[in-house]
Amino acid sequence: MKDPKYFCILFSIAGLFGFASFTSAQVTLVSNGEPRAVVVIADHPTGTAQYAADELVSHVEKATGVLLEIRSESEVPNGVHTRVYIGETETAFHHGIDVNQLPREAFVLRSIGNDLFILGKEGEGDPLNPSNPNAGTLFGVYEFLEEVMKVRWLWPGELGTYVPKTSTISVSSINRLQAPDLPYRHIRWGFTRNVYRGARLQDEDVHLGFSQDVAEKYGEAMEILLRRHRMGGRDLSSDMGVSHTYSGWWLRYGEQHPEWFMMRRDGGRGRLDPNRQINVEICVTNEELQDYIIEQWNGESTLMLGVVDRSGRCNCENCRAWDGPQPDPIPWFAKYVYKTDWNARNFFPGATSDRYARFWRTMLEKARVINPHAKIGVFLYHNEFPAPVTGIQLNKNIYGQFVQWQDPHLRWFPMHEEAYEWVREQWLGWRNTGIRMGYRPNYLHDGYVLPHFETRQSGEFFKFAHKHGMMSADFDSNTGQWAVQGPRLYMHMRLVNKPDLNLEDIRNEYFSAFGPAADDVRRYFDFWEQYAFDNILPFLDLFDSPLRYLHWPRFAHKAFPPEMLGAGSEILEQALLKTRNSPPEYAERVRFLQTGLEHARLTVELAAIFDGNFDVPEDRLEEAGLALDKLVRFRKEHQGSFFSDLWRVTNFWERPRWNMDERIMDYVTEE
Ligand SMILES: [Zn+2]
Repeated sequence: MKDPKYFCILFSIAGLFGFASFTSAQVTLVSNGEPRAVVVIADHPTGTAQYAADELVSHVEKATGVLLEIRSESEVPNGVHTRVYIGETETAFHHGIDVNQLPREAFVLRSIGNDLFILGKEGEGDPLNPSNPNAGTLFGVYEFLEEVMKVRWLWPGELGTYVPKTSTISVSSINRLQAPDLPYRHIRWGFTRNVYRGARLQDEDVHLGFSQDVAEKYGEAMEILLRRHRMGGRDLSSDMGVSHTYSGWWLRYGEQHPEWFMMRRDGGRGRLDPNRQINVEICVTNEELQDYIIEQWNGESTLMLGVVDRSGRCNCENCRAWDGPQPDPIPWFAKYVYKTDWNARNFFPGATSDRYARFWRTMLEKARVINPHAKIGVFLYHNEFPAPVTGIQLNKNIYGQFVQWQDPHLRWFPMHEEAYEWVREQWLGWRNTGIRMGYRPNYLHDGYVLPHFETRQSGEFFKFAHKHGMMSADFDSNTGQWAVQGPRLYMHMRLVNKPDLNLEDIRNEYFSAFGPAADDVRRYFDFWEQYAFDNILPFLDLFDSPLRYLHWPRFAHKAFPPEMLGAGSEILEQALLKTRNSPPEYAERVRFLQTGLEHARLTVELAAIFDGNFDVPEDRLEEAGLALDKLVRFRKEHQGSFFSDLWRVTNFWERPRWNMDERIMDYVTEE
């Protein structure tokens, strides 16, 4: 709880409930393989309480083999050692636990005598819906599973759920009042969510990747997984909302008010490229426009002043006069921020942070005339990514989302140490203006289906940002490459829920799910992580594009040559040997990693035929067709394991840029 006000609320409620005295009382769910508890829900439970009770019971069964009974409150049998009350019950109320006083998403986890109470505020909403604020009861159950039973949710589905086996589940005393640290927690995951809710995949995607029914199952498993990691929080209409508000304004107002929009270096207004007319930024010093924006505002919701989704800013004299001095020399890793810009050739290419900070302050003053509590939401993005340099002071009524999306050196993790240091300085610089900060990075787009990832730098940065005022985390996006980039995805899910966790502890949690193969699996992922750090600059040269995430399919074979994949494969063989005399789940998890690596290898084989082009050369069509056939067969055979979000693979990385048209599709055998 970094916000002092929020902390005070929690603190006073904690005082209200008091702390359980330490007695010899013992909450025991299972003892030596025998049930000692009954799970109790209200006579008329909410869907959330029922679902939370089911989650508890199914995980306890996985851990112990014991199926606990769920009973309604008026039917609790006598002589039960422990009653686990899930959700709002009369008994909880009788004990003075009044959830109506709890903040959203908060829960009480409290033992009284031998009984356990797990509850938060409840409603009739879907417990899996991340914007449902009344999920405290469910979050309390997850906290118990995670902290007491050491359950780890590594990836979607059964195999990714690691429940350590035990014959006894018992805890002497517990008393917590807790809520997620960040009020907004989100890792986007795109279209497969819609498929789960009834959307149809396109034929091209079905040909190459997920079948419809598997995509639906994957979507369901993802909803469950992300909720288990407590994704959710306030929705975007709250005071943490930002949008590209002026996208399209040029098309609406440009003819009548060209002076409202960005001036080119030749003195004209608007973009020359007819394909980029949506993303025409405004001229922020134009007072008529400023007043028009206020007029359009409803006076209540957050006034969203996010820049358009392109770099390059107004070149007029008035706007330039608001800018701070540009750095000299320009840092070698940030030349696209200050000098040239592939989108901004005709516009001012430097840092416009001081200009926009002044614009936001001006707009806040105007907004406050209408509503003294007015709030503004902005992006710290493109030309406004560098922190201001003129010492301008803002305040907490401005909420800025920090989006590292500038020079290729600054976009991806891992990044060069000097670039990394600079990014941290920009976070601190913005923080020091007094605004509230959110984190909205895009680096998870990187890596395609290859074992390209890291945990150390991005994890460290997340914790750094949290220590320095991060109020929300919104990642774009979870690409679902669970079998090749698992530790990175797991770490992000864990940190978004609990930013104070230690990075090494998180890694250990992940590896522990491989039992006797844990050390080899750690060695395997360390091998790839080191490979990523060794190739920071070579990979930037190889892709040579700011949108490198889209170009992985073309260069996969150069980034991950067969001998590297072979070396990784050997480590996994050794890991598999270690699991020989253990329960099958450990071997199955190693095989899951092998599936990911084999899929990477088949992808690299195909990429070598494309060899950097979007089209296959005419004389290699047959060869490409056969390689694609092999790849698609492999995908169809293994898709049910959820080793990869194959919709993401086909629709985001491979299509439509990578031209797998009918010429090579002819070679692919129909299912
Ligand atoms: Zn201007």
